[in-house]
Amino acid sequence: MVVDDIMREAQVRSFVHQAPAQRIVFGVGTIASVGTELDRLNATRAVVLSTPGHRHLADGVAELLGPRAVGQFHGALPHTPVEATEQALEVVRDRRGDAVVSVGGGSTTGLGKAVASRLGIRHLVTPTTYAGSELTSVLGETSGGEKTTQSGPEILPNAVIYDVELTATLPWSVTVPSAINAMAHAVEALYSPDAKDRTDEMALEAIRSIDQGLRALQDDRASLGARSELLYGAYLAGTCLGAVAMGLHHKLCHVLGGTFDLPHAPTHAVVLPYAMAYNEAATRAAMSRIAEALESDHAPSAVQSLVRELGGPTALRDIGFARVDIGHAAGLAVSRPYPNPGGVTHAGIVELLSKAFDGKRVRST
Ligand code: NAD
Repeated sequence: MVVDDIMREAQVRSFVHQAPAQRIVFGVGTIASVGTELDRLNATRAVVLSTPGHRHLADGVAELLGPRAVGQFHGALPHTPVEATEQALEVVRDRRGDAVVSVGGGSTTGLGKAVASRLGIRHLVTPTTYAGSELTSVLGETSGGEKTTQSGPEILPNAVIYDVELTATLPWSVTVPSAINAMAHAVEALYSPDAKDRTDEMALEAIRSIDQGLRALQDDRASLGARSELLYGAYLAGTCLGAVAMGLHHKLCHVLGGTFDLPHAPTHAVVLPYAMAYNEAATRAAMSRIAEALESDHAPSAVQSLVRELGGPTALRDIGFARVDIGHAAGLAVSRPYPNPGGVTHAGIVELLSKAFDGKRVRST
């Protein structure tokens, strides 16, 4: 009898789980520990990174770091263009930096990953959105209008400081799509071929926390408790993103963002209910667990109603996509195989994108 047969008969568990070497600090006011966290990484000369619009965040962190901050770079941009990375590399080399501290959303974290992995230096992230990039070993970069993705252990940041207060300034119009972006990681983790009991539990808790956090924040936009629930959900969802392979939804968003320059989080918020509906027939068990977590009887409609009720984007035509590009996008989405429970066909994706373009209601199948 071969080993596989023995294991099947005896119902023995078997899996591979690579625990990432990453320190996580979560709480309110935790940014105050940025200096000691850098010390733990044995780094003494940090360059602080941010987007152009959030240099005040970089200033604040540099002040906390004192003499450990040897420079700043405020040129992080969406989709990590290599030109911005080259400029940041120049600053880090010039200041003889042995670490980068990324303060911001996924765009800033992407730049930090690109710089730290090229130079082999330490990387500490303080996320201010719910994107989850800080928890993955994946880096997407753009060069000459093309987006490429690479992964490896050197890309995973060494430490993450989640400070709920840093997310308090996120405008509502960014909060809702960013939170649904996080929810998408949890949804696809539940039907991933790599799914395990541990990731399932984290994914379901993430979905509940994000749903409840969003509703509580809608009632009281200044609630730190609601922000905490959301960031916690995003942390759990990001952990799932870093642990298991994603499916059709992430592939579609990658194509729409990378080739058609659609904004990352709003694209996730529009597409998620349609990708869930597309996969529904092949993922009944996962969908009923998601529906239960959302206290509903139909998971795709529950997600779509949530986005709609919160005033988030619900149609691709409203976020910069052109109907004429549907066929091209569908072609790119089916061009290479990737894990997805439902079969992926060109005609099926054209239909999905056409519905998403118009923001049609998803229905139970
Ligand atoms: P982002 O970093 O561009 O931020 C989104 C918006 O939030 C911006 O307008 C920004 O100015 C604003 N913002 C951020 N922090 C703020 C704050 N404290 N107060 C007020 N406004 C604030 O976008 P994102 O959605 O966080 O991340 C998207 C990028 O991350 C994309 O390039 C995506 O490909 C990448 N990403 C990568 C991974 C990965 O695993 N490699 C995972 C998720 C996202």
